[in-house]
Amino acid sequence: MDQPLQSTLPVMDHHWLPFTNNRLFRQEPQVFAKAEGVRYWTHDGREVLDGSSGLFCCAAGHGRPEIADAVHRQLMTLDYTPHFQRAAPISFEFATALAGLLPAGLDRVFFGGSGSEAVDTALKLCLAYHRSRGEGQRSRFVSRQWAYHGVNLGGTSLAGMVANRRDFSGVTCAVSHMRHTWSEEQRYSRGQPETGLDKAEDLEEICRTYGGDTIAAVFVEPVAGSIGTIVPPKGYLERLRAICDAHGILLVFDEVITGFGRLGAPFAGQEFGVTPDVMTMAKALTNGTIPMSAVACKTGIQQTIIEAARGDRPEFFHGYTYSAHPVACAAGLAALSIYRDEGLFERGQAMSDRFLDGVFGLRNLAQVADLRGYGMMAGIQLRPGAVPGEKGSRAQRALFDAGLHVKATGDALIFAPALVVEEADLDRMLEVLQKVLGRAD
Ligand code: PLP
Repeated sequence: MDQPLQSTLPVMDHHWLPFTNNRLFRQEPQVFAKAEGVRYWTHDGREVLDGSSGLFCCAAGHGRPEIADAVHRQLMTLDYTPHFQRAAPISFEFATALAGLLPAGLDRVFFGGSGSEAVDTALKLCLAYHRSRGEGQRSRFVSRQWAYHGVNLGGTSLAGMVANRRDFSGVTCAVSHMRHTWSEEQRYSRGQPETGLDKAEDLEEICRTYGGDTIAAVFVEPVAGSIGTIVPPKGYLERLRAICDAHGILLVFDEVITGFGRLGAPFAGQEFGVTPDVMTMAKALTNGTIPMSAVACKTGIQQTIIEAARGDRPEFFHGYTYSAHPVACAAGLAALSIYRDEGLFERGQAMSDRFLDGVFGLRNLAQVADLRGYGMMAGIQLRPGAVPGEKGSRAQRALFDAGLHVKATGDALIFAPALVVEEADLDRMLEVLQKVLGRAD
């Protein structure tokens, strides 16, 4: 970048930042003013490498002119249309293009505006499906400790990360939590751990406690992302699938982070060879450019709901003002074209070994307590301090000052660069991690 963009900061009193300590932020603001490729620039022109694809959104890197052009064209053609009893051609086009990427059998797509909306849509869709086939008693859901499924009330009910639910008691749905799959013996395991398959039996236990026929669906992130990349043990997702089948329970994969080549295949379901009944997507759906999410389900699920409905009323009483927003569809179609034309999922797959070699090369650093990774997604667990999360936020700040943006959750850093990252930039990101995490803090 030739010129600093703007060296003075704006008035910061009025915007209440999400998931942020607003007091600390105002003392030490971290403001990005420009982005291109795998780089951000701060308001005063300092370069910061993007080690987390924004928030795991920008798989094709920042500032893609193909997406900007498509968005501009769509704005000037049809900027908005409602999708309640109306439609725009582009939403059908986008759903069809998406269906071509999805796991076999999942080809019906419902659009929303965020990952959290996708999760709540999926919850309601599962309830509507069971009710449509005369099993309305299935109202319980199952998720997992340490799970993150967004912040709407449904997703908060599913949440297994304590801080995300602690202040919001009284939320609606009945949820039972399976144990998370991490254990001491998995420390520093690369790819899928050999141990932990037995944790899938928690689902059988929940079925014994509540009755399998009272459970509507099991929600899991195939790789638990926000907690810091917990990779499923070998055979674990397969076993969940088998237990769900035995009890007539729907299996939902929340692929908001894992979708669009993050793990190698387009979606985790294909990567691990386990097909869910329903899956959620967001983030890289539009390369992070325009807010949008999608829920895909098996053909038969939609058919059941549609066929059970009577009269002229909508079959699924659900939807958002911004469902299938034409501008978001344009951004999504352009993003899918980039992924296809540049072979980005294959590129991520080809880069994964180098990426994971680099990550596991951080093993002996002073601050590192565990490393986990799969595809182009890794978790760096830091040695905890007296207060949980303090080390994570301190490391995140030090990395930012040293020129690297990464997402931190508690004392874990989540390292997931864009699939377009060049080897030289990846090496530079790893050098910053080496330097900062190698210091005794
Ligand atoms: N589900 C998962 C697995 C996520 O990781 C996230 C966000 O990180 C969400 C849902 C919520 O998405 P959003 O922040 O777009 O609402």
